[in-house]
Amino acid sequence: MSHDVILDAENVVKHFGGGDWLSRTPVVQAVDGVSLQVRRGETYAIVGESGCGKSTLARVLMGLLAPTAGHVRFDGRAVGAASGADLQVLRQDMQFIFQDPFSSLNPRMSVGKLVGEPLEVHAPELSAQQRRDRVADLLRKVGLRAEYAGRYPHEFSGGQRQRIGIARALASGPKLIIGDEPVSALDVSVQAQVINLLGDLSRDMGLTLVIIAHDLGVIRHMSDRVAVMYLGQIVESGPTEDVYANPRHPYTRALLGSIPTMGGKPDGQRSTVLGDMPSPTAPPSGCRFHTRCPHAQAKCKTAPPNLKEAGTPDHQAACHFWDTLASAPPIAPTPPKTEAAAARFALYRAAVEGGTVTHKTNQSTERK
Ligand code: SF4
Repeated sequence: MSHDVILDAENVVKHFGGGDWLSRTPVVQAVDGVSLQVRRGETYAIVGESGCGKSTLARVLMGLLAPTAGHVRFDGRAVGAASGADLQVLRQDMQFIFQDPFSSLNPRMSVGKLVGEPLEVHAPELSAQQRRDRVADLLRKVGLRAEYAGRYPHEFSGGQRQRIGIARALASGPKLIIGDEPVSALDVSVQAQVINLLGDLSRDMGLTLVIIAHDLGVIRHMSDRVAVMYLGQIVESGPTEDVYANPRHPYTRALLGSIPTMGGKPDGQRSTVLGDMPSPTAPPSGCRFHTRCPHAQAKCKTAPPNLKEAGTPDHQAACHFWDTLASAPPIAPTPPKTEAAAARFALYRAAVEGGTVTHKTNQSTERK
């Protein structure tokens, strides 16, 4: 394992269901043979449609779910095997940000208590005043006023509640934060603010981020590398800009086709996903994407493609024909499908046309 890898997953499998012959239920193959390595200090995104297994994978990476097979190592330590004091250190070093900032915060606890609670566990040596000071620091760090410590979650907007959730996650001084769709429950106008905040924190505090998302548009400007998941497996991974500029797998091209085109310019890489995702209880044989792939051939129905180098050393794709498809004729881009998508596109375009994404926190439109 390279010295700069902080999180290492090796052939992780997570199945649910089964049981004995009397109580047998279909086996859900939520995650099936995923290997990935997250480098220290980077932002790594895991993207795919609902039901592709990305949230289950996130929970296995955190040690919240035990894998059916495979291994996860964090900073050299086995995640699944940790217990007692080791588990406490692991919990301190790895934190989780939830999708819904409202339901993840206890409504009966003040913001000061919510953010201060992890300090009671992980820094019991602090006096009450020192803890209050740390809470004030953390609130300021996420762009909130220190005096908000006396308020309750219902008094805040969705974006502010997510900031409180981030402050709580930061309280234990983690090395890595996993965010499960951390902005998908927020208004489009607030998403960019929270994304920029996470970018700021990652850069300023040397944090490693793993971001789970269903929308490639959300992670484009905040992640260094991306893994695209389909039906429990990674089908493409690589540096984010390379994956966007040169998507190798037909599924990635289809996902890119589901977000608005930048500047409305055809890029020759886009298509749309055909039909629904098959059930994870009965994934298709061969390439799992063959039932929806416009390029499927006979081999695709029988032979599973391996994830292998595709074009550049750090870019991998699981497709038998990625190299011939890369030079396939352009497919017409799809226009924004909804008002929300159009608004999101306008937001991203504004960010891009203002330069590379700045990672500057902009709270001007958020209610204080
Ligand atoms: Fe499509 Fe075949 Fe490639 Fe699978 S292996 S993505 S079915 S072309």
